[in-house]
Amino acid sequence: MKVYISADIEGVTGVTHWDETEAGKSDYEAAREQMTAEVAAACEGALDAGATEIWVKDAHDSARNIIADRLPREARLIRGWSGHPFMMMQELDATFKAAALIGYHSRMGSAGNPLSHTMSGNVTWVKINGEPASEFKLCAYTAALTQVPLVFVSGDRGLCDEVGQFNPNITTLAVKEGVGNSTINLHPEAVVEQMRSGVARGVANAGQCLLALPDHFSVEVRFRRPERAYQFGFFPGVRQIDPCTVQLEEADFFEVMRFFVFAL
Ligand SMILES: [Zn+2]
Repeated sequence: MKVYISADIEGVTGVTHWDETEAGKSDYEAAREQMTAEVAAACEGALDAGATEIWVKDAHDSARNIIADRLPREARLIRGWSGHPFMMMQELDATFKAAALIGYHSRMGSAGNPLSHTMSGNVTWVKINGEPASEFKLCAYTAALTQVPLVFVSGDRGLCDEVGQFNPNITTLAVKEGVGNSTINLHPEAVVEQMRSGVARGVANAGQCLLALPDHFSVEVRFRRPERAYQFGFFPGVRQIDPCTVQLEEADFFEVMRFFVFAL
């Protein structure tokens, strides 16, 4: 059984400031160690549930954060960015029996995490069918497109609340809560323990976690700068609707991700 894990860092316990997310800054090493520990625990949980092969996508910034030799031998690690429209879910396909997101975070504009954002600093918000979209939602729809159940999400409390509203069958682990520009964090070792058992429970529950895709995607992206909205107004199927905002009407979610890989 193949299990897919995508990992970010802003939803790892303890991580609170951008300096902790950036390779080369002195605070980064501790964050990277904890990100690796949480991903390794997620892999162990998948193995407990019967996985024989685990593909891990390092999905933060350079995508060269996770320390490879701390993962179990059944794991293979995807580092860097291929340019494929699946981005944070690169290489996901129907051969996987379950997918999990580790260290994910609240969307741009929400109060759940001092590091809330959606993909890049270029956008003020992304909406899908009128609702603000998080990176979680893009990954959830990508999993649905490939017919892979999304079984587990860890990150901040605000994100876990969003996941619960989206599909209560997805197992969640809230490792911290954002309060203004601060975070209240679970102990790193407690998170590792709960990660392992939570992922195992999630994978065992995969039968309840296959999401249905909407028939139609009405997508709006508001850029910080009007020149980007002008430029992406020329993308096939996209139109500019105000100085900073573009809109895409699309039935195929792959085409939505094709737009996002260029625009976000
Ligand atoms: Zn990140």
